[in-house]
Amino acid sequence: AEMKPVNIHEGIDSTLLILQHRIKSRPEQPEIEVIKDYGNLPLVECYAGQLNQVFMNILTNAIDALEEKSRTENDFLEENQIPLTDKIHNQIKISTSMLDSEWVQISLSDNGIGIPQNIQQQIFNPFFTTKPIGKGTGLGMSISYQIIVEKHGGKLKCISIPNQGTEFVIQIPIHQKID
Ligand code: ADP
Ligand code: MG
Repeated sequence: AEMKPVNIHEGIDSTLLILQHRIKSRPEQPEIEVIKDYGNLPLVECYAGQLNQVFMNILTNAIDALEEKSRTENDFLEENQIPLTDKIHNQIKISTSMLDSEWVQISLSDNGIGIPQNIQQQIFNPFFTTKPIGKGTGLGMSISYQIIVEKHGGKLKCISIPNQGTEFVIQIPIHQKID
């Protein structure tokens, strides 16, 4: 594959389309509201397939985190015999903007279960997972880090508050330096 000028928003939207079956409501899972705040971005020189892989990894984790939060909240309501009236409001927010004339920023956040402070340093390590065997490989974030930082000279940061949510911020240069 070659680097080529890519429309970031198309990449995010096609990833969301693939994940549609997990975003729309099901009996055991309320609908996830996806809020997009797309800025005016130029085409970004990158490996389109790899970047889409990053969106897929981050959004899959976001959906997992929302489902996990719904499960624990449902369990709590049931245990305390509180009727399941108020549906939990699951959200994924995606915003894009120009950081300056050379860098784009993409933020993907969820209001899911969050990441405990003591493991936030480990999520980019290969094979680190908190998910049950068979559900997680623990590779999504380490591969994403490699793609963003090593392949594109970008930055990938995670900000998370347990029980409130998680935000991943991707920053990538719009032009790649060829050496
Ligand atoms: P996997 O999803 O297979 O467990 P990842 O590398 O994608 O592996 O993620 C590693 C770990 O980081 C997850 O197991 C989870 O504990 C944590 N994590 C990543 N994204 C989120 C998120 N949005 N909300 C809560 N936890 C997350
Ligand atoms: Mg994952």
